Amino acid sequence: MSPNDKFSFGYEKVSASEKNERVSRVFKSVASSYDLMNDLMSFGLHRVWKTWFVDSLPLKDGGVYLDVAGGTGDIAQAIFERLNRYSMRANIFVSDINFSMIQKGKQRRPHLTWLDSNAESLPLRDSSVDVYTISFGLRNVTLQEQALEEAYRVLKPGGKFLCLEFSHVSAPLEGLYDIYAFHIIPKIGKWVAADEDAYQYLSESIRTFMTREELAQMMENIGFEKVRFKSFSGGIVALHTGYKL
Ligand code: SAM
Repeated sequence: MSPNDKFSFGYEKVSASEKNERVSRVFKSVASSYDLMNDLMSFGLHRVWKTWFVDSLPLKDGGVYLDVAGGTGDIAQAIFERLNRYSMRANIFVSDINFSMIQKGKQRRPHLTWLDSNAESLPLRDSSVDVYTISFGLRNVTLQEQALEEAYRVLKPGGKFLCLEFSHVSAPLEGLYDIYAFHIIPKIGKWVAADEDAYQYLSESIRTFMTREELAQMMENIGFEKVRFKSFSGGIVALHTGYKL
């Protein structure tokens, strides 16, 4: 990376340090209302997407699960509950760069193991993780390719990578989706989280994120095998998966 490289912060192009700082400000500001906002904005649909996501994870008794950019721990908690249903135990780590999100998550879910760390440089050994998940996190990371390389590094051979992320909606939904994303979501953010700009960023960051094909290509370039993706809810979200073989 050169010091002149620019990164998308919504529609703006900013330096790496500015993107880090502004993303961090967004999540610090919304941490206390983050869970409620997710329910309101998605009409509860985020729970359905996350359930599908966690249902597609391999079950590994005694395994190591790592949820990166894990926020308040929704995914890690769902993994914990799913394994419990099969009387399985695992080491479940939640990693996030933002202390406010971690604090909020820890209060609700003290039984999970929390790591204060950047997806671009994880404090874990090579080949130590069975399942790596990242949900609605990758587009917020500044060095996205580096984060994927880190995912590859920490996964064990045979380990699985899964990424759930907002994507690009299919044509018939586009007009309606834009009105909702750019006119209604920021207003809900203003009334509930007292931060309209944070939710304007959310909508813009979805629009400027890689396409499904670009993300799949980046994964393959890094070395992931059997890379697949599928869309849900008309393309509003996409699930990418791949293996380190
Ligand atoms: N995974 C959770 C979920 O699905 O609800 C939280 C998603 S939230 C939209 C994005 C999270 O990414 C925030 O908690 C933010 O702090 C985190 N994040 C942003 N940049 C990051 C980075 N470079 N490394 C780790 N976490 C990061």
